[in-house]
Amino acid sequence: MITRKGIIIAIDGPAGAGKSTTAKLLAEKLNYKYIDTGAMYRAVTLYALRNSIKPEEKDKLVELVKNMDFRFENNGSVLFVNKENVSEEIRKPEVSSKVSEFSKIAEVREILVQKQREIGAEGGIVMEGRDITTAVFPNAELKIFLTADLDIRAYRRLIELKNKGMNINLDDVRDNLETRDLIDSNREVNPLMVTEDSIVIDTTKLTIDEQVDAIYNKAQEIIKSLNLNQSHRN
Ligand code: C5P
Repeated sequence: MITRKGIIIAIDGPAGAGKSTTAKLLAEKLNYKYIDTGAMYRAVTLYALRNSIKPEEKDKLVELVKNMDFRFENNGSVLFVNKENVSEEIRKPEVSSKVSEFSKIAEVREILVQKQREIGAEGGIVMEGRDITTAVFPNAELKIFLTADLDIRAYRRLIELKNKGMNINLDDVRDNLETRDLIDSNREVNPLMVTEDSIVIDTTKLTIDEQVDAIYNKAQEIIKSLNLNQSHRN
């Protein structure tokens, strides 16, 4: 019997496919840690913008990212960087519109991928992003690719942002998702793609509960078959 905190569940997919909501609920159900890697790329973008660092200024960016200490709280819903709670600011449109330009940079990815591997090393984790199944944890026990129609993704994201009090319209949200998907899927380093061993779930017509249950059932099968003696999250 292997004693670990649990298996590694890697979830990738385009913007607004429901990865965060699904991954968070799934982690709660399994008593696992939840990590939103997009929040880390957003925080790098926020800090770069604040310090007027451009994507092409690689040395300055590397220095910046190396000095960022990431701490997730409230089971992944709150992100602190160097003790500052950045959770709200990283969702602002100025960050959303620049994040894919910063996350294209190999040097930035290298540092964040390393940090993400350290966070997930003990298992018992649900990690979501764009390169978790391909680069961060290519050997994850369960790999999921979540997707949905662009219009549905844009509508869901609009509601989410409006609920946070942001004044934004559907066309702008849709354009941002489309542009990010294009850059994220076509960049040279760790582009968004579906691996052969990923289970693809199209969430267009699914409820959140159905999405969570589908992955939860699969995870339980794997946990049983591995005969894992899981210790709890913390
Ligand atoms: O998940 P979210 O939409 O908040 O991610 C914001 C951006 O961060 C993505 O559009 C992508 O450019 C970048 N990202 C990435 N690799 C990850 C997670 C996010 O490049 N693993």
